[in-house]
Amino acid sequence: MKFVFNATEFPSEDYYDYIVVGGGTAGCPLAATLSEKYKILLLERGGVPYGRPSLMTQEGFLTSLTDIDDFESPAQAFTSEDGVPNARGRILGGSSAINAGFYSRADQDFILVEAGIDPFNGFSLDHVIGIKIAVYASVERILLAPNSAYSLSKQAAIGVIFRDQSGRYHHAMPYLSTWGIVVAHHLPYVGKFLFDNPRNGISIVPPMPPEHSLIQVVGITNSGAYLEAASNVIPFASPANSVFIRTSPSPVYLTVATLMEKIVGPVSSGLRLASTDVRLNPIVQFNYFSNTGDVERCVNGTRKIADVLRTRTMEIFKFDQWFGGRDFRYVGPALPVDESNDELMREFCHQTVNTIWHYHGGCVVGKVVDQNLRVLGIEGLRVVDGSIFTVSPRTNPQATLLMLGRYVGMVMLREKFR
Ligand SMILES: Cc1cc2nc3c(=O)[nH]c(=O)nc-3n(C[C@H](O)[C@H](O)[C@H](O)COP(=O)(O)OP(=O)(O)OC[C@H]3O[C@@H](n4cnc5c(N)ncnc54)[C@H](O)[C@@H]3O)c2cc1C
Repeated sequence: MKFVFNATEFPSEDYYDYIVVGGGTAGCPLAATLSEKYKILLLERGGVPYGRPSLMTQEGFLTSLTDIDDFESPAQAFTSEDGVPNARGRILGGSSAINAGFYSRADQDFILVEAGIDPFNGFSLDHVIGIKIAVYASVERILLAPNSAYSLSKQAAIGVIFRDQSGRYHHAMPYLSTWGIVVAHHLPYVGKFLFDNPRNGISIVPPMPPEHSLIQVVGITNSGAYLEAASNVIPFASPANSVFIRTSPSPVYLTVATLMEKIVGPVSSGLRLASTDVRLNPIVQFNYFSNTGDVERCVNGTRKIADVLRTRTMEIFKFDQWFGGRDFRYVGPALPVDESNDELMREFCHQTVNTIWHYHGGCVVGKVVDQNLRVLGIEGLRVVDGSIFTVSPRTNPQATLLMLGRYVGMVMLREKFR
């Protein structure tokens, strides 16, 4: 792609109409849309996804989540203070480049797109209009200064500082901005109201390996939970030395089928603890199930999983038992035997909580940004990504995030040319 460059090739100072920080799910369509009329710089801290086989196929999903390092891998792993392992995208395309690819639209309340705004922006990978992408460009600072065009008491974003792979710093600024005193703007709610939808469920090894598939269909219940299923080939360590089996140092690969539920919302919120090095993960705590409504939604969803497991179709996934009868072969905890016991079901939710990687919030509308996603009290700075949501849009968020970038780009173009 002719418009993608390594950040090391950039001058130490350059000017653009708009600077988009983060070439992610919302950032890419936002930049592409604005580039129809403006000179845009898109700064992405990671590299490009092309030429990385694990990002190109669903079989590579687990590999890209496990093949990780501190600074370069497309997935950046982190474990929240709740003890749940998690990941975020660090590559052009953002988390949609490493995710499971399941695409679902938001519900009616989320329909941002008014008549006439179409998701297709007419661009292909070959387009060269107005956009320059810098990869391996970690933005470290957004520069703020009093803005005389409005009032001196109001701050305006006047540029960003990013660091390339060799450690060299670059300044990128909107045209006509002047250097001023760098002042931090105090927004007490930044990093608060963080949400991560808990994922709970069961995993089984079926007698016949099913076709490998990530999420393809979602069951929408009316009790606050969505049901999803996936299968994965997972390496297991070979059994320890045995007189009967000659063990090999290589792992045994098994297909594991997982039936899971994500709860709507959630209401339980967490916070992000500050870290000054942008290359490192922030420390986050999601406080899963601190709200009792979330626990009840999880219990409802877990009971629905039990209903699914009892269906005739699921019989083929069972094994004959040694002493008669048939049952599933579980990897990890099974559902409580007595599903009518609320206490046991709640405990199952707490014990097996995991992430479905739909975390959101931290810069929510009304607290950090206004309805137009402008940062409160600052000119020239918007937040356009999953951090503005107080609920995860419908079953899976990426479609809404792609459209959010496109939509905000269209709104900005219309604002300027009204
Ligand atoms: C493993 C996984 C599986 C998922 N599966 C699905 C699924 O199947 N379906 C679905 O709908 N959703 C799925 N999701 C959720 C969905 O992918 C995310 O909600 C969505 O991509 C978030 O979009 P975003 O624009 O908010 O952020 P992102 O797409 O994560 O973009 C943020 C970008 O900003 C860059 N960046 C961050 N800091 C800096 C900096 N300082 N300087 C420069 N660049 C920076 C990052 O490298 C990244 O590219 C999954 C997520 C994960 C992690």
